[in-house]
Amino acid sequence: MAYAYDDQNIFAKILRGEIPNKTVLDTEHTLAFHDIAPQAPEHVLVIPKGAYVNFDHFAQAASEAEIVDFTRAIAAVCKELGVEPGEGGMGYRLLANSGEAGVQEVPHLHVHVVSGRPLGRMLQKQ
Ligand code: AMP
Repeated sequence: MAYAYDDQNIFAKILRGEIPNKTVLDTEHTLAFHDIAPQAPEHVLVIPKGAYVNFDHFAQAASEAEIVDFTRAIAAVCKELGVEPGEGGMGYRLLANSGEAGVQEVPHLHVHVVSGRPLGRMLQKQ
């Protein structure tokens, strides 16, 4: 694993407070904010505050405290949105696009939390 982190990516700028965001949740190691171009009625991005390019980078290099905080933050966002199936919510989908095949646009790990309408199949058939 050899990842070079680009600290000029847009989420790094959000974390430094250089550009605004609509914050949903802010914890010691994690920030969640509304996607600027939502693809569903609910579309929140959850990012670690550390400099991780994608999920495998994070999973291998982050501390246990960061991983626990990030995972719990995703669940807290689902709770905040009221979409947890176990609580009567309509459900949700998590997505973490990575690299070229995943069509990742911003090279800082982000998990998309999407909900608010039926989301269809997981992947389009080719
Ligand atoms: P991905 O294709 O998985 O890298 O997704 C990048 C996401 O970041 C897209 O859904 C964009 O709409 C979103 N995005 C880009 N710039 C911003 C921004 N300044 N604030 C919030 N979301 C953003």
